[in-house]
Amino acid sequence: MSFTNVIQFLEKIAPLAGLSKKEIAALQKPNKVLKAELTVNGKNYPAYRIQFNNARGPYKGGIRYHPEVSEDEVKSLAFWMTIKTAVTDLPFGGGKGGVTVNPKKLSKKELEELSRAYVRAFYKNLGPDVDIPAPDVYTTPEIMGWMLDEYQKLLGKKAPAFITGKPLELGGSKVRDIATALGGVFVLEQAVKRTGLKKKTVAIQGFGNAGMNMAQLLAERDYTIIAVSDSKGGIYEAKGLDIEEVIKVKETKGSVSEYAKATKISNEELLESDCSILIPSALSGVITKENAQKIKAKIILELANGPTTPEADEILSARKTLVLPDILANAGGVTVSYFEWVQNKKNESWSEQEIKKKLQEKMDSAFGQIWDEFSDGKKSCGKYDKDHISAERCDSFHISSFRTAAYVLALKKIVAAGKNKKLI
Ligand code: NAD
Repeated sequence: MSFTNVIQFLEKIAPLAGLSKKEIAALQKPNKVLKAELTVNGKNYPAYRIQFNNARGPYKGGIRYHPEVSEDEVKSLAFWMTIKTAVTDLPFGGGKGGVTVNPKKLSKKELEELSRAYVRAFYKNLGPDVDIPAPDVYTTPEIMGWMLDEYQKLLGKKAPAFITGKPLELGGSKVRDIATALGGVFVLEQAVKRTGLKKKTVAIQGFGNAGMNMAQLLAERDYTIIAVSDSKGGIYEAKGLDIEEVIKVKETKGSVSEYAKATKISNEELLESDCSILIPSALSGVITKENAQKIKAKIILELANGPTTPEADEILSARKTLVLPDILANAGGVTVSYFEWVQNKKNESWSEQEIKKKLQEKMDSAFGQIWDEFSDGKKSCGKYDKDHISAERCDSFHISSFRTAAYVLALKKIVAAGKNKKLI
């Protein structure tokens, strides 16, 4: 999403959170835009660190390596991190980093040099209590390890809480590898419980870190996975797929579509399949105004970032499909990143069981807060109608979806913290 769209979005949602013009204006501007040119083997790569808002705590956000990284994109992503950390009640603000580079064209040595150069360029503005980076698109735990090493050299002391998503042996956290999917499971369990959904048939688009772990975790519980897919196509079996067998096929033959004991389907067919729960876990913008009408699922869990277009969202909301938005559904990753930071600061190492329990508590609590906001928001329409606006405008003035409730809640928390610190 472009930053212009972020501003438009904010202007649309903020009145629902009861924000004043002054408060909205304060939320529209990043605190700091840091830029540098990183030189590796005579070539220059533009690099950014954008610190959007720290009203609720140190800036937190990943570093992305991609040829299409731009200042505008990093700014939007830094804004979304501010919202995401607020939704899950993590004591962080939002930031994001990026380098405009195609990492696939760099040797491993060049990649290491680029990563170290990034830290040298920005380290004075980073730190465990200031701004804590993490992995994002095309940045790995190994890269986090190089960045940590460079930071500690510059600082002359150990500081593992400088960065999260590190390898375990450098102070990384257990459960990080499945954190996004497991957080999604907890969110889904809450939604199933509160809506009373009985038939739990699931279709998952994407079979990478997020989608495959999700399939495995749900299959271990009492869910029937009827369809999965990857970039080469999908498979469908009404009685339920044997996920362990599908994983073996994916690992040996490269695609789930090679699995012979199920019907082959396209990615489009998967979205419209006869499931009660749909989990987009691959690309953004796959649920559109063209296919939203045909989606049969009662619950959509957005494990991918931005899988639903705004037009599709309105259609789904009118059809009473419960869309669990990305800012909550895939926040398990940043939540375990927070646990990693706490463990590093306290010089502790928590057990897998302890982390899973804490993750469930965080996700359940975030879900509950949004659910309450959503229920109250629906009721508040009458009040707005009577006191402020005409009946025709009522629809656009009440909290019409669980997604809107999540944004409203996040904005309220950020503004309250900003006022408390006299930042607004
Ligand atoms: P990944 O690269 O591990 O897997 C992506 C999967 O999507 C692969 O199976 C790929 O084959 C499939 N895919 C690609 N093009 C497709 C297409 N046209 N149709 C269907 N499937 C297609 O990536 P990931 O880490 O699993 O991330 C997936 C999504 O989840 C992204 O939107 C990402 O931003 C989001 N997400 C991931 C994490 C995480 O911790 N992994 C955290 C937050 C958000």
